[in-house]
Amino acid sequence: MSTIFKKIIDKEIPAKIVYEDDDFIAFEDIAPVAKVHVLVIPKKEIKNLDNATEDDIMLLGKLQLTIAKIARMLGINEEGYRVVTNINANGGQTVYHIHYHIIGGEKLGVMA
Ligand code: AMP
Repeated sequence: MSTIFKKIIDKEIPAKIVYEDDDFIAFEDIAPVAKVHVLVIPKKEIKNLDNATEDDIMLLGKLQLTIAKIARMLGINEEGYRVVTNINANGGQTVYHIHYHIIGGEKLGVMA
């Protein structure tokens, strides 16, 4: 089932896009929890990590490197940042299209 993120991917609704390639799009979170809060999203519609399969191994590997590339682009890599993916209700997932939060630009509190 398509979500609001699919509409952003398809440019049906606007977003502050910071990065895009054939496989991924990254844009600023509408409700940032830190000075830098960007969402990185595979264009493939996977509900969350729990629904990824072995077919997604290459995509998810590339995603990790893309996250690191975007963090360097944003200039937050040296000072550090956090990467979060929420899964289902207890994980706090609200949009059911797999995505990774890049959170940084300031010192973050202990979380895990
Ligand atoms: P999650 O709670 O992990 O599913 O994350 C969903 C995130 O999407 C939240 O941090 C929201 O603030 C963000 N979000 C929802 N709608 C939009 C939108 N139209 N543009 C940018 N970010 C959004």
